[in-house]
Amino acid sequence: MRAAARLNSTAMAFPGLAERIADVRARIDAAAARGGHGQKVKIVAVTKTHGPNVVQAAYEAGLRDIGENKVQEALKKMAAVDVPVRWHLIGHLQRNKVKALEQFVLLHSLDSPRLADAVCAFGLDRGRAVDVLIELNLSGETSKGGYTLSDLLPEAERFVALAGIRVRGVMTIASFTATESQLHRTFAEAREARGALVEAGHPAEELSMGMSNDYEIAVEEGATMVRLGTTLFGARAK
Ligand SMILES: *Cc1c(COP(=O)(O)O)cnc(C)c1O
Repeated sequence: MRAAARLNSTAMAFPGLAERIADVRARIDAAAARGGHGQKVKIVAVTKTHGPNVVQAAYEAGLRDIGENKVQEALKKMAAVDVPVRWHLIGHLQRNKVKALEQFVLLHSLDSPRLADAVCAFGLDRGRAVDVLIELNLSGETSKGGYTLSDLLPEAERFVALAGIRVRGVMTIASFTATESQLHRTFAEAREARGALVEAGHPAEELSMGMSNDYEIAVEEGATMVRLGTTLFGARAK
């Protein structure tokens, strides 16, 4: 398809996307100013359940970072997309699929010691460390993966010796039922946890937190990456 024709068709498939992105960016800027942490904020556009045309539309609207939560779905989409976006893996990764990390710039969801060992082995194998965020479970919900705060520090020390991974920060998913003040507390805890990683010697600049319903609070608390699906692309297909 000619570029102009494709641009037209994807823009028509997502009327108002450019305006929604502009609105989100304005909200992010305002929240960052309120928070006073002085960070830059990257939008990771979450395209799970949507087709490759959504990735194309996101790219044409100026977004460059795409988040997917399932390896299989992501690889299929990558094969069907011909724009140079950066792919982020934001969902649980099974240890037998660590090779797929070759296709992603960042794993947001390093959620267990065994996965850390498998990712490290892959990084050593390919001769280049894998960039990861440690997923924190701060809400206490057992249905969610990730490290508790008390498990984090010993792991942070252990990870110093794992040359196959590079700890770039933390990621967290807040509880959907939390009040605004609980959200502030959760996101502040994640920021403090990142500080502990830095003290342990990791290049942990990133704070991946905030989704469609809570990203402004996350940015106020210092988020450097917000993972947005619904607010950009509407309700998910399934
Ligand atoms: C789906 C998903 C998102 C995006 O959620 P929205 O509420 O649609 O913005 C963010 N992070 C993770 C880990 C997800 O699985």
